[in-house]
Amino acid sequence: MSEKSVAYQECINPDCRGQFDCAQTLVKCPSCGDLLDIRYDWDKIEVPGKISDFAKRWATRDNRLDFSGVWRFRDLLSFCPDESKVTVGEGQTILQQNDALAKALDMKPGSLFLQYEGLNPSGSFKDNGMTAAFSHAKMTGAKASACASTGNTSASMALYAHSIGMKCTVFIGSGRIAYGKLSQSMDYGGHTIQIRGDFDDCMKQVQDVCAKLGIYLVNSLNPFRLEGQKTIMLRIIEQLGCDTPDWIVCPGGNLGNSSAFGKAFIELKHLGLINKVPRLAVINAAGADTLSYLYNEKKLRWNEGRVDQSIIDAHYADLTARNYSPRTCASAIEISRPVNLKKCLRALDFCNGVVLSVTDEEIKDAKAQVGLYGLGCEPASAASIAGLKYLLADGTVTPDEKVACVLTGHQLKDPTVTVNYHKDEEGPFSNPPVEVENDLDKIIELMQS
Ligand SMILES: *Cc1c(COP(=O)(O)O)cnc(C)c1O
Ligand SMILES: [Zn+2]
Repeated sequence: MSEKSVAYQECINPDCRGQFDCAQTLVKCPSCGDLLDIRYDWDKIEVPGKISDFAKRWATRDNRLDFSGVWRFRDLLSFCPDESKVTVGEGQTILQQNDALAKALDMKPGSLFLQYEGLNPSGSFKDNGMTAAFSHAKMTGAKASACASTGNTSASMALYAHSIGMKCTVFIGSGRIAYGKLSQSMDYGGHTIQIRGDFDDCMKQVQDVCAKLGIYLVNSLNPFRLEGQKTIMLRIIEQLGCDTPDWIVCPGGNLGNSSAFGKAFIELKHLGLINKVPRLAVINAAGADTLSYLYNEKKLRWNEGRVDQSIIDAHYADLTARNYSPRTCASAIEISRPVNLKKCLRALDFCNGVVLSVTDEEIKDAKAQVGLYGLGCEPASAASIAGLKYLLADGTVTPDEKVACVLTGHQLKDPTVTVNYHKDEEGPFSNPPVEVENDLDKIIELMQS
């Protein structure tokens, strides 16, 4: 690094700790290949004294940065000048207290909250990260961007790229993308390349392509993206009257969200903006359960940054040898080589976390319940509720603890899974349409039956 600036990139490997300027575009540490963090010299930043101070900016929401639910917290992610900040009004999301669903889960009223990130402009939490990544891309003068995607990353990337007239390319795997998501990236003008392979294959290819062609990579390997995703936690705390919940429950795919949440709490604690750190529960799908397997079976831990890489390597070698491809109806978390694994372990360590996996049936039932009692969500999001049921059943979470589940994506992202569940009467909450003859008496008879 040339000079000491307010923000810089730092390698998470404690034996390296390489530091790099934010003006550089990196997705890995150039010295050791480990993940990078964005770090701040907090002494040089004037951070508001309490979390409620950020909400005051809502009064000046005609300023585009105050309107954004991400940039309203800009002091906590101050890595670029205001003029390069790119926003499309992300982060206007609601934390819904849901007593009806709480009751169905045998929880006390006032204990269950759903953070509905489906309200973002492209319909998923990814916009929180994309606004940050594109702001960095603009600051560094990037000309084109790309990502590998199970769908939502591409929808979000295409929206942001298009908003500043930048070219973008989406790498998707064969046939594993929900139509709601694919339709968005096509509509927003994203150049879509379908690779004959799965998400993990796409992830590898896009990294090589970006490195070779100097294209800006917006997957969550990009440390700037995670800075934006921290604000989901800030909005939850804000909406709880500046209190932290006892638990945060979220689905785990590439593990960007869980990593960002952990980093948010590390920083908020350090800054004295929170007293209590919530516990974190990360929920895998059973058909894509790398984190759960490594954490619970292999006891893989953060270990102060010295993660036992040999355990990860052995598992991935085994996946390769078995030609294993992950499979779940929750396509957004159908990932078996999560790029942010180590950062997620750090989050679990700091937040006294737990990890578990849930079946597709459990995900679909939970999704139907979220729809029945709340604002609905896409399959991956419902993994959080399906996981919460286990945590309640074994007493890890008690019925009166305050739990915030992150509903990561909009209900309309994957109508196929929803319609099939209801139409084919797959589960206890199925609500199929009923057919009747075009006859008034028959219709009335049916409605009164
Ligand atoms: C991307 C995504 C996930 C997975 O999030 P990670 O940060 O990759 O773990 C979960 N749900 C939805 C709807 C997503 O779009
Ligand atoms: Zn390094």
